[in-house]
Amino acid sequence: MSDEQIIIHRARVDQLRTKPAADKPLGFGRYFSDHFFATEFNRGNGWHLTRIEPMRLLQIDPAAICLHYGQEVFEGLKAYAGKNGELYLFRWQKNAERLQRSCSRLMMESVSTEFFGRAIKSLVLVDRDWVPRAPGATLYIRPTLIATDPYLGVRPGDEYAFYVIVGPVGNYYPAGFQPVSIWVSDHDVRAVKGGLGEAKTAANYAHSLCAQNKATKLGFAQVLWLDAIEHRFVEEVGTMNVFFRFKNGDVVTPPLAGTILPGVTRDSVLQILRRWGITAHERPISIHEVLESAQSGELVEAFGTGTAAVISPIGLFSYRDKPITIGDRRVGELSQRLYTYLTRYQWGEEEDVFGWRERIDGLDLEVLAHP
Ligand SMILES: *Cc1c(COP(=O)(O)O)cnc(C)c1O
Repeated sequence: MSDEQIIIHRARVDQLRTKPAADKPLGFGRYFSDHFFATEFNRGNGWHLTRIEPMRLLQIDPAAICLHYGQEVFEGLKAYAGKNGELYLFRWQKNAERLQRSCSRLMMESVSTEFFGRAIKSLVLVDRDWVPRAPGATLYIRPTLIATDPYLGVRPGDEYAFYVIVGPVGNYYPAGFQPVSIWVSDHDVRAVKGGLGEAKTAANYAHSLCAQNKATKLGFAQVLWLDAIEHRFVEEVGTMNVFFRFKNGDVVTPPLAGTILPGVTRDSVLQILRRWGITAHERPISIHEVLESAQSGELVEAFGTGTAAVISPIGLFSYRDKPITIGDRRVGELSQRLYTYLTRYQWGEEEDVFGWRERIDGLDLEVLAHP
């Protein structure tokens, strides 16, 4: 299916959208560009009607399966503008592969890695003047796949839509890199073994809102999720993977055992640490180990990882109303080093030693659209 031609319908001048004001913070997920990519699947034609068109409302049957039974998966990645007009993508193939695994978990049709790549690259090129240039700002890319056939009954869809929207997002740390305070959820869980935790699917986020609301009301930024069986082992923090650094230099992150979203940033951090000669263990770590080692001074840093924030330093955990600070609530040295290296890497300022970066500003849109 990846040889499917992309028809490009460019927006007329009167269809162009107003770009966000340069003097206001972009925030995250609030602005969308002039165009979107879309393609549709049915059993007879496979993926077809593949196009980029001016941004508009979707038409969807009120009985569409995704609206009732949750067959929806998505991805999140970014396009980065270099200092001299270069445009970069970072490890987009990992997002394509994760989308395929999410689809497979939810019994959904998927798209090939190559087709996914052509979709996001052509859309970013069509809307290249939406890639923000302010320091730390990026074009966020949101590929989405939904079951669209009208049917009330629990079975996998026969019809799907895959679409991609993009929009400028600001630097996650406009006021500088700051450690956040985390509330440990002792009751609500994010995912259970055998469930959906590994898939990037809407249900996981709907499901997390209650606990996040409790955390927000208590004045915390995010929830730390524990395992669903013993409420003991650390899983993730908010919508990020989580890392701990100990005084002896070792780093620990929970293993991917079915309940944790396999983050691209998590994988990148693990590979970078190993290249830097830092021992990084993927092993279960209990909340008790975290709290005891924080109190004894053995645990010196904790941070979350994800595409949106890149690295998010953690300054405090509150477990059963007891606050425990980490590293004097200052940004840890490894968090800072990783943040600097990874963001410089993504913006084309570090050598591409892992082969993770793809420069796309020189690609020919005609070739992408008509392979
Ligand atoms: C997307 C996501 C992550 C981070 O994944 P990245 O690929 O690093 O952006 C971690 N946890 C959850 C629950 C997520 O949805």
